[in-house]
Amino acid sequence: MHVLLSEDDDLIASGIVAGLNAQGLTVDRVATAAATRAMLHAAQFDVLILDLGLPDEDGLSLLQHLRQQGLELPVLILTARDAVTDRVAGLQAGADDYLLKPFDLRELSARLHSLIRRVAGRCVNTIEHGGLSYDPSSRQTRLDGQPVQLARREQALLHTLLHNRGRILSSEQLKDSMYGFSDEVESNVLNVHIHHLRRKLGSGIVETVRGLGYRLGPADAGSGQSPA
Ligand code: CA
Repeated sequence: MHVLLSEDDDLIASGIVAGLNAQGLTVDRVATAAATRAMLHAAQFDVLILDLGLPDEDGLSLLQHLRQQGLELPVLILTARDAVTDRVAGLQAGADDYLLKPFDLRELSARLHSLIRRVAGRCVNTIEHGGLSYDPSSRQTRLDGQPVQLARREQALLHTLLHNRGRILSSEQLKDSMYGFSDEVESNVLNVHIHHLRRKLGSGIVETVRGLGYRLGPADAGSGQSPA
């Protein structure tokens, strides 16, 4: 899951980034409304965490503009404004959820997962795919009931594939889901992670769509171990 964090307070931002990284989420942080717009154009995200008090533009008006321009990303507002009218204004401007400062990181993470889940139209936590099950909040992966250890980037890759079932994803989209904007990424890194996923979850887990990208393989192709 790739999170864009728009927050100008360095201390709050670094706490959120560290906390969400520890939960296996990829986070890019920006500190202004202008940088938020630029990032949303530059990369693919699954959710936006938006501070309302940004230095160059009010978060509410930024959100309104983004929604008018067709932004469909789920948005969680962070705010120190706790008046009911402010919260209502936030939801009317197009936020999907909000959290009052100060907040507990565990609550933020739980709300992010619930937002993503709601957008994907699921009400249960675990994503099932043939013999595979993946729980995004505990990051537990099981194949035919047996736990499988996945590295952080492999989890991110698997989550993105499961989340976009039936869709073809380009290499860029998959890399965006695993790496932050400022991470140094080697050109063959996606192939390496796909190789590991196929080795651990069966060769059918990722389908190569020649010339276009990749997609989640059919559910019944999952469990057979591929030849090493
Ligand atoms: Ca602020």
